[in-house]
Amino acid sequence: MITTDTSADAALKAFFDRTADARLESYLELLRIPSVSALSEHAPDMVRAARWIVAELDRIGLEHAEVCETAGHPVVYADWLHAPDAPTILVYCHYDVQPVDPIDLWETAPFDPFVRDGRMVGRGAADDKGQLHMHLKAAEALLATRGKLPLNLRFVFEGEEESTSANLPGWLKSNRHRLAADAVIISDTGFFEGNIPAITTSLRGMLYTQIDVVGAPVDLHSGSFGGTVQNPANALARIITELKAADGTVRVPGFYDDVVAPTAEERYEISCLPFDEAAYQEIVGVPALVAGEPGYSLLECGAIRPTLDVNGIWGGFTGEGSKTIIPAHAHAKVSCRLVPDQDGDKLYVAFRDYVRSVAPKGVTVEVQNLGTAKALRTDPANPVSKAAARALKATFGVDPVFIRSGGSIPVAPLFESMLGLPVVMLGFTNPDDNAHAPNETMVLLNYETGLRTICRLWDDLGTMSSLEARMGGTTA
Ligand SMILES: [Zn+2]
Repeated sequence: MITTDTSADAALKAFFDRTADARLESYLELLRIPSVSALSEHAPDMVRAARWIVAELDRIGLEHAEVCETAGHPVVYADWLHAPDAPTILVYCHYDVQPVDPIDLWETAPFDPFVRDGRMVGRGAADDKGQLHMHLKAAEALLATRGKLPLNLRFVFEGEEESTSANLPGWLKSNRHRLAADAVIISDTGFFEGNIPAITTSLRGMLYTQIDVVGAPVDLHSGSFGGTVQNPANALARIITELKAADGTVRVPGFYDDVVAPTAEERYEISCLPFDEAAYQEIVGVPALVAGEPGYSLLECGAIRPTLDVNGIWGGFTGEGSKTIIPAHAHAKVSCRLVPDQDGDKLYVAFRDYVRSVAPKGVTVEVQNLGTAKALRTDPANPVSKAAARALKATFGVDPVFIRSGGSIPVAPLFESMLGLPVVMLGFTNPDDNAHAPNETMVLLNYETGLRTICRLWDDLGTMSSLEARMGGTTA
């Protein structure tokens, strides 16, 4: 399915051929830095990764490359603004990665990346250091072969995407003056099942909560006290059972009130996607697939309908053998994926009140709001999106599909709401990339062809005036 670059630019092609080994070595080098944003012990690695990227940006010929301090991990910024009549594109990727647990399920060390069967294996290979690296290498190739870029670029590389993006909104706000652009390209998504090139047109939002159920100040002897007090673990189980009906419908009052129902056209488009349910089940490795809600297909439930999931439960005795206690407390992390126009903060209040209302007597129940993010819908008719589709077709040899993602990128909606910029989500990862899981991989043909796609796209956008890119002109 994947073909080689059809670009007529011989110098560019020769450069890519000549630098293939160095490119791979540089990719490996970036992956070796354990930039896990969620764990404070890796804070020095975050700085190391940010500095590594800045050094690369400097070497390539980008300007104003800077490790920008925030209250958390740094943001990396750079720009190149010497194409006066061409549009300005802001490219967003993130250089932080997810923690590696469960470490024993990795076949090799997560930060000792290697190539196997045409794939890069290692934490961050796909999400999102691989994609960030593609943008570096695309810029490098164009600057090295032509001495200039076909358009104006601003790179914004975040270091906290995998841990709630706490500081990027503030950074965007205070740096608005240097973020003027015509559109944002986010490279943190991937291809459709079967590794079909895709442009993502929606993301789900998020509400993340923690439920804390507390009984006695200490664990109690279950012989002496069993039968006279409420057990916090049993109470938590009762609460969790009440969150969803047997058919998957979320029972929190008002949960679906603000959900924008998909149009018949949207549902038709989703039904046309070449989705192989059996292959998908095989990849996921479950005994059966279960649609989350009655009346909606698997693909709809996985992308355009809201969900509620328990992410973890703990409390009481979990060691070897038996220990007869009534635990003093029990806890659960519960998250909801949200769709337009659900509001996470409003839903948190409804969720908290509902949890309290269904909690059994004899325990105290607290519900914490650990963070919210808004959902995003983008316009596939946007000229940048159309140009991205043309570039994918030209390099991968097939028309891309437009897909809705079930995932969330907390800052994605902010580019629209805070900077007023249209967003296009162009990502290149293979759907079986094991992002966030052990043995993460990136198909190298996606990486290699993808970076040619990026060059092609920038060339295409470079022929549009700034206004066209923003307002809907076309060069086709
Ligand atoms: Zn990511």
